[in-house]
Order: sequence, then structure tokens, then C-alpha cells
Amino acid sequence: MSDNSLRLVWIYPDLLSTYGDQGNALVVERRARQRGLDVARLDVRSDQPIPTSGDIYLIGGGEDRPQRLAAERLRRDRGLYRAVENGAIVFSVCAGYQILGHEFINDLGQREEGLGLLDVVSVRGEGERCVGDVLADIDPRLGLPQLTGFENHQGLTHVGPTARPLAQVRLGRGNGTGDGTEGAYNDTVFGTYMHGPVLARNPQIADMLLKLALDVNALPPVEDRWYEALRNERIAAAQQPA
Ligand code: GLN
Repeated sequence: MSDNSLRLVWIYPDLLSTYGDQGNALVVERRARQRGLDVARLDVRSDQPIPTSGDIYLIGGGEDRPQRLAAERLRRDRGLYRAVENGAIVFSVCAGYQILGHEFINDLGQREEGLGLLDVVSVRGEGERCVGDVLADIDPRLGLPQLTGFENHQGLTHVGPTARPLAQVRLGRGNGTGDGTEGAYNDTVFGTYMHGPVLARNPQIADMLLKLALDVNALPPVEDRWYEALRNERIAAAQQPA
């Protein structure tokens, strides 16, 4: 963070925004502005270099082929590695989450190297695709309310020893490996299978990213009525019998 301005980087909207991921950028941007911050939002297309001096980076979901292209470009670019070394906060969804791990299975059925910024490994699920609403209890260390989101993925993700599961599912599949976990995180890098977009359904996660970027323990409260209405609607929908 420099002065009162936050640099928010949305990585590869041309490849990884199949599931309304722009909403996550909008929510972080708005909640930062509501706290009096100047926000410089940079939407970085896949033919542009990743800036290394961002405060928060967002990476969204995508289909299998764009996911492979994004991984190739991010590996080659190396800017995200440098940003994380500089202490940047990264929040990733689904395909973006898989890319941040050590490896995943690409659209050609081959093992594709990820960025290794999060200690997870993704494999291809042999069963039905994981699709539907999810409710999950977030790791109590993070002090956040229940996670609500929508999942749509074929890959399954194993969380390694130097990452922690982000949440434990109550409804839905999450990481899908049978251990009940959903997503993963370390000190500064977060991954989840939740769409929604997830930060509109869980604005407290957006605030957590801001607090980490600002290195503060609390933020002034903001009006959450519409977020709460969306949350409650989706939680009720998730609990409907199928
Ligand atoms: N292509 C990945 C999978 O199916 C990620 C999908 C997504 O981002 N929703 O596992």
C-alpha cells in the first residue's frame, strides 16, 4: 500500500471470467472506496504483463482450454511470483485456484504445471462434475461467517501440508476429495471453488483481503443490507431439498 491508494489487479479477464468474476473486482473496489481509499483497478489481459506492485490480485474461473493458456502465460510472465514475494494478497476462484497450485489436469488430459504459490494439487474427477450451491464453515482462525457459493468444476483438489483448507463443507462438494474441505489458503494466497460471484455473497472475505492489504485489524463498517439479502436468499436456496 502506498499513501491511501490501493492497487487492485484483475488477472486475465479475457481468459478467466466465465462465471461473473468481474463481480469480485467490483466488490473489492467498492468496499475499499467506501473506506475512503483511492483504488487503481488494473484489468490485465493475457497479452499484457502482470504488474508486480499490486496490493490485491484476483484470478477467476474458466473453461479448461483458457485455463491452460492462462497457466502458460502466468508461468512465463513471472510477475505474479514477484508480487507474492513483495507481500501481495491473491484471491483465486476455481480455475484460478487450480492454477495457483502445483499442478492440474489440462484440457488435453495432461498434467499441467501450476504456479506453486499454494500447496495444492488438482486432479481430474472421474465422477460427475461438481455443480451446485455450497455452504461451508470457514476455518475459525479467519473469524468469518459461513461461506456460500456456487461450484461448477470437474477437477478435485488435494490440500498439502503447507496450506490450510479454507472451509469445511456442510452442503456441496468443495475440493471434492472426500475429506470435506473447500478451498485452501496460506498467509497471503487464497483459493476457493466458489463462484457466485463469491465476494458478493461473502463480503466479509473482501474485507479480509482489504485488511490484509492495509495491515489493519478492523475496517469501518459499511451498509451490508443488499449483500445480506443475497446471502440469505442463496443460503435458503442451498438448503431446499433437491
Ligand atoms: N476447468 C476447471 C474444472 O472444471 C475449472 C472450472 C471453473 O473454473 N469453474 O475443474
